[in-house]
Amino acid sequence: MKRTMIKSLSEKKGQEVKIKGWVDTVRFQGKMAFFDFRDVSGKVQGIIFGKPEVLESAKELRAEWVVELDGIINERPEKNINKDILNGDVEIEITKIQILSGAEIPFDLNDELNLDISLDNRPYTLKSDKNKAIFKVQAEIVKAFRNTLGNFDFTEFQAPKIVGGDAEGGAEVYNIEYFKNTASLATSPQLYKQIMVGVFEKVYSIGNVFRAEKHSTSRHLNEYSSLDFEMGFIKDHTDIMDMLAEVMRGIKKGVEENTKDELKLLQAEELLIPDKIPTMKLSEAQVLLEEKLGFENAVGEPDLEPEHERALCDYAKKELKSDLIFVTHYPVSKRPFYTYEDEDEKGFTKSFDALFKGVEIVSGGQRRHDYDNLIEGLKMKGLNPDDFKFYLQAFKTGMPPHGGIGLGLERITQKILGLKNVKEASLFPREINRIDTLLSE
Ligand code: ATP
Ligand code: MG
Repeated sequence: MKRTMIKSLSEKKGQEVKIKGWVDTVRFQGKMAFFDFRDVSGKVQGIIFGKPEVLESAKELRAEWVVELDGIINERPEKNINKDILNGDVEIEITKIQILSGAEIPFDLNDELNLDISLDNRPYTLKSDKNKAIFKVQAEIVKAFRNTLGNFDFTEFQAPKIVGGDAEGGAEVYNIEYFKNTASLATSPQLYKQIMVGVFEKVYSIGNVFRAEKHSTSRHLNEYSSLDFEMGFIKDHTDIMDMLAEVMRGIKKGVEENTKDELKLLQAEELLIPDKIPTMKLSEAQVLLEEKLGFENAVGEPDLEPEHERALCDYAKKELKSDLIFVTHYPVSKRPFYTYEDEDEKGFTKSFDALFKGVEIVSGGQRRHDYDNLIEGLKMKGLNPDDFKFYLQAFKTGMPPHGGIGLGLERITQKILGLKNVKEASLFPREINRIDTLLSE
């Protein structure tokens, strides 16, 4: 007999079927046994009744055992029908059980666990309904990012993760042995996505990047997935903000349409992404913070503090009905060398951060595309243009005005789902004291 997927059992009433999957729950009661089984497509109730030899073969079964079953699909008695769930009107009466694999579980999957214990047991705890829902939603975010940009003629490319010496001089770089040399792990695909604008005009990449963050916070990982896009022929950073707004709408639509049940299970709030995204300059945001939101010492600072980001987001949600805000015009001193300086506002950049439900999830902006202007940017940051010769070729061989963004996948997942810690939104989080398991001191 061919395998039937659990989600289509309702259509097989009265028929004999074979299913394969996991024991989700099991309860023995006298000469009967009651089960939930699950496969990738869903769950079904099972029952053994009046068949001593089948009951005998089932007696070892516990949660997470992997089985192949034959059975008959029966309609449930009227009083047990539940129309709200998959297979709520049927159950499988088991006639034969074959055990494919046993299991020894450390605790119940639905136990409330602290994060460290949950992470220590990740291969098991990822199977909980909650964790599966988180990573289903995450997969949908990636899909929506891809689909939205694909619809706008962007080409996906793979950026290298091993990069030459630490040219930008960032503190958050991991150096690695590279035969007789030292190389680094990429902190972003930035230079490569700019190079690729010269090739394909509109590009995106999805890949892991590495940051040697020495602190453990609820929003930093040491390895995260960066969703990046970069596009040519823009008038300025506002074109990038518009494209990002499209991407955010695509993500909202994708997760709402395709992971409805997961969002419900996780009690995620509906996302507010209005047609016009609230946008303010850093200096305006700082005035708002002082004049309306009760902060002092915000005006004139080069950056926003985390509590400022939270307050601005709360304000935007309440007053402007938006979970997303763009803050533009960060000072040149706070942005990387490739950031475009506003001709009309010297000292400030055509860059922006997107704040979403209390934290920055995106940095982006227009880039310097003119070769001489880019060299100036490098020198201003005390960097040596010779170290960037390879990258600079792109700017000598025809580079349009361009810009783009980097969006942290785990952060947006965390925020969409209202998770406390970004680690909950990373399958296998790396942090200062953990690679899979805790590291010894
Ligand atoms: P932060 O100020 O929060 O440390 P950043 O300004 O260093 O972030 P960028 O270099 O601008 O971050 O990276 C772009 C995006 O990548 C961020 O908006 C965020 O979504 C994500 N990101 C950056 N660093 C991390 C990290 N350590 N862990 C998880 N996501 C990160
Ligand atoms: Mg940033």
